[in-house]
Amino acid sequence: MDIFKKCYDFYPTVKDAIDKGMYPYFIPLSSEPHRRVKINGRELIMLGSNNYLGLTVHPDVKREAMKAIEKYGTGCTGSRFLNGTLDIHVELERQLAEFVGKEAALVFSTGYQANLGTISAIVQKDDYVITDKLDHASIIDGCLLSQGTMKRFLHNDMDSLERVLKSIPKDAGKLIVVDGLFSMEGDIAPLPDIIEIARKYNARLMVDDAHAVGVLGKTGAGTAEHFGVTDQVDIIMGTFSKSFASIGGFIAGDREVIEFIKHNGRSMIFSASMAPSAVATVMAALKIIKEEPERREKLWKNTRKMLKGLREMGYDIGNSETPVIPLVIGDSTKTLLFWRELFDSGVFTNPVIPPAVPPNRSLIRTSYMATHTDEDLDQALEIFEKAGKKFGVIK
Ligand code: PMP
Repeated sequence: MDIFKKCYDFYPTVKDAIDKGMYPYFIPLSSEPHRRVKINGRELIMLGSNNYLGLTVHPDVKREAMKAIEKYGTGCTGSRFLNGTLDIHVELERQLAEFVGKEAALVFSTGYQANLGTISAIVQKDDYVITDKLDHASIIDGCLLSQGTMKRFLHNDMDSLERVLKSIPKDAGKLIVVDGLFSMEGDIAPLPDIIEIARKYNARLMVDDAHAVGVLGKTGAGTAEHFGVTDQVDIIMGTFSKSFASIGGFIAGDREVIEFIKHNGRSMIFSASMAPSAVATVMAALKIIKEEPERREKLWKNTRKMLKGLREMGYDIGNSETPVIPLVIGDSTKTLLFWRELFDSGVFTNPVIPPAVPPNRSLIRTSYMATHTDEDLDQALEIFEKAGKKFGVIK
């Protein structure tokens, strides 16, 4: 048996979709990933990025990244553990810990690695990790890499969470991991309820705030701040690939927990550290997040406009209450056809089909930026109305 047989069998499906112009992935942009993007010489309104605060094009952020290259070079050529720690990594960790309201923080080269390294280090043999069914793939992969047992509860369903916790031996170590702001549905984890149940069963709580840092909370510190429960969330995880306009990730928590992960998180120890330009980008973005709350306010103004506009048109937008707004279509083929219609009409969105979502819950993921103008959004709404009626998604 040729081990590559699966590859040769798989390829025709992809090629067929590409040939039919129905392949929605790996589309090359030839511009900045900002409010409007260039694809094949055409301009599209970008409603498919995670550039929530629009900071990827901010002149101060770009300048700081360039200055870091001048001072530190282009890469660290090694792990944080050995030769790859710069003074700016340490300073960024100090600033992040302070920003999210925790004792200490640790940065990783991606958010994916932050989840992988943290969960696999903490959840050991005889321990349990409990996840929401809609948690991000990097959380699932962290659980699979761990030596412990993984259990899942129904999305945002507190009865289901309690049933799962009840079924676990009382004395076992338990870590609950949830997304703060769910990346596909745009709804928020009910942290106060989760905390109450976690306390009852002596479980620790980790919140993946990839989409919430810079977005939720009075100062943009994320979901825990949004609910006023920062001191009751044990580990806050975030990424730099969204509001922070760069690449990398972090965790924050008690000093002892962070030190443990620092010495046991394999995805950090055995991988090179964040490039200097990325570190400087994040620091510059963090400064703007702190100093310009009006950006977050603009993001929420745009969000309210789109939530209202899409809902009034009759779209099913699930329980979204954030800048991530799904248009729930259901059938996956219809979703792909609808995505293509939107794309041809000048809006970039992301079609999400199983296994990324449950069967019959295929959707178009839309997301918004502080820097979208009313003109961008009005034009997008017009396209959504026309396309939605054409496809019978709305009346
Ligand atoms: N968690 C969530 C909820 C995410 O959406 C993502 C990225 N899509 C990640 C973690 C991984 O982050 P990164 O892009 O920094 O690897």
